[in-house]
Amino acid sequence: MGDRWHVEVDRSVCIGSAQCVHRAPAGFRLDTARQSHPVEPDIDAAEGVLAAAENCPVEAIMITLLDSGEAVFPPEE
Ligand code: SF4
Repeated sequence: MGDRWHVEVDRSVCIGSAQCVHRAPAGFRLDTARQSHPVEPDIDAAEGVLAAAENCPVEAIMITLLDSGEAVFPPEE
């Protein structure tokens, strides 16, 4: 893909289900409050991270293109 992504987790929404950690162990980590956060906020585009965002039960994970800020997930309507 070649894109660079910016990844955020909305901690007011995350319910700590850890699915993102299982799908993308290099991408996400749970803190002691069982809230997910990206291991690195700015990453090379990665299928596992996108799959984690798509499968988060509460859509707490947002991915944007690092250079333009354009939405990767959730996609803009
Ligand atoms: S999958 Fe979503 S709700 Fe579950 S820990 Fe990850 S960000 Fe939080």
